[in-house]
Amino acid sequence: MAWIERISCDVCGKQMGRDEKWWIATNECVPSGDRRSGQPTLKLMPWDNALAHSAESKHLCGAGCAHTYMDRWMAGFRAGTETCVGVPVNS
Ligand SMILES: [Zn+2]
Repeated sequence: MAWIERISCDVCGKQMGRDEKWWIATNECVPSGDRRSGQPTLKLMPWDNALAHSAESKHLCGAGCAHTYMDRWMAGFRAGTETCVGVPVNS
């Protein structure tokens, strides 16, 4: 039995077609002046199969969903749920 990989958009739930090239977003913490914690950062990248399998990666089908995801991330940052507290920062 062939294993068919199903990747769906983390915003709209659409399934990725075989030849589609989507986008990947990750949440990271970059060093800030305050060494105890980092600065929450949203990273958007072109599709990469290896990266897509990382647990931290969000799969986005296009600009519309990337925008929605960014809106949510910004709201989370303002609400204080998107933070780097307790996350080690690479320097
Ligand atoms: Zn989508």
